[in-house]
Amino acid sequence: MTAYQHHLIDGIWTAAQSAEITRIHDSASGTELGQVAHGTREEIHLAVRAAKNAFASWSTLPVSTRADYVRGIANQLEEQVEQLAQGVAAEVGMPLKLSRRIQVQMPILAWRATADLAVECLADVALGHSTLNHVPVGIVGAITPWNYPLHQITAKVAAALVAGCTVVLKPSELAPCTARALGEAALAAGLPKGVLNIVMGDATTGQALVDHPDVALLSFTGSTAVGRRIAASAGQALKRVSLELGGKSACLATADAPAESVVRQVVGSCFLNSGQSCNSLTRLLVPIELYDTYRALLADAVTRLTLGDPLDSATRMGPLVSAAHRDRVRAMIVEGESQGLDLIAGGSQAPVPANGYFIAPTIFGRVPPRSTLAQQEVFGPVLGVITYETEQQAIDIANGTAYGLAAAVWAGTTDHALTLARQLRAGQVDVNGAPYNPAAPFGGFGDSGLGREGGKYGIEEFVE
Ligand code: NAD
Repeated sequence: MTAYQHHLIDGIWTAAQSAEITRIHDSASGTELGQVAHGTREEIHLAVRAAKNAFASWSTLPVSTRADYVRGIANQLEEQVEQLAQGVAAEVGMPLKLSRRIQVQMPILAWRATADLAVECLADVALGHSTLNHVPVGIVGAITPWNYPLHQITAKVAAALVAGCTVVLKPSELAPCTARALGEAALAAGLPKGVLNIVMGDATTGQALVDHPDVALLSFTGSTAVGRRIAASAGQALKRVSLELGGKSACLATADAPAESVVRQVVGSCFLNSGQSCNSLTRLLVPIELYDTYRALLADAVTRLTLGDPLDSATRMGPLVSAAHRDRVRAMIVEGESQGLDLIAGGSQAPVPANGYFIAPTIFGRVPPRSTLAQQEVFGPVLGVITYETEQQAIDIANGTAYGLAAAVWAGTTDHALTLARQLRAGQVDVNGAPYNPAAPFGGFGDSGLGREGGKYGIEEFVE
């Protein structure tokens, strides 16, 4: 068992003042993994004060020097890949092999890529007789979720640091191991004290950070409901805010799309990390006359998603993060079943390992586009297949939710797919199976949030 009962404040791990904690559990066994302290308002205040004191010198360092510190942090994290991959696999439930690559190695690459982009991205720009300078916003309050913990921390903290901001991070109380490793990496890399402060805690701790008058920008990733509240508080105080929120992303397949490839991408995306990804493709839109073809392909593909312990190399899909989250996802599946939808795979009664927080990969067919399952984020391993009669109808269905984070289009030709992709209101649209591109801006329309992360666009969020 690990105790996350210290906060990194002004370069020192400081014992938590409050006895309030969140208990975290191994997602595959349910045994207790550790206890996470809830930082108090006073601790948030101390962390913000440290960030304020550090800002004057950090913000005036040459960008290349700040980038070197960021590379130093990446080097330190590199030393801990295996330990972190196992930690996230236990906390979140992602199979170890994927956890190593996606949860740890990709974020480390992002620390380096952010450092490499910084000098060019933040250079002065001549505008006729004017010079455009990029000035760091100030103290950043970063609040992150549990599903890709190091990735989400990296998208905010690495970009804010190279931009010249100082940071107070409040990581998720459900997945703290990477946040603590980052704090240790920052100390080992010699990051000046107060530049990065980490206060462990829950919603109350996060709210104290949101409320602090000296925080200039709030960078939040999490649920739309909390994002809305943070935006309202930030509006009152005229703080800048960037919000990476939920999604209900569609994959639109045309009649001449290669159905096997479509199914491979959608199953890979929807069930990655047990469906706990904000940009999962959770709605598959297919021509009505091809419904039976897709139904058969999906039913077959799902049989290969072996459920089990994330540490077992045979496992293709692990458990969900917590008992509470599993129960929430299961309730949404039961609601789908009660509506008499075509259950293609899984369901609330499907067998799952006895211990831990498992849900079988579940696919519903002929889902009405306005139903709860087609409109609300499940954040679990649940795919809805929706049929359409015309491509215009498919575009309207794809755009017909409150969200707009990601989407995918498959068609017989690239030109056709691009024509459709341009009509989708989503932050990123994958065309004919294009892989994830970390240099592209990531973020959404509507209820999926405000602002962009990733590449140079992510750095630009932190400058005036
Ligand atoms: P959440 O909103 O419950 O919590 C996110 C973070 O906010 C946590 O650190 C939590 O402690 C903190 N928090 C909660 N209430 C707060 C408050 N009132 N004030 C300040 N901080 C508060 O989300 P979650 O359950 O951790 O993550 C799942 C959600 O995150 C899903 O909706 C998912 O779509 C979304 N998400 C979005 C992206 C994206 O990039 N768009 C990425 C990952 C997850």
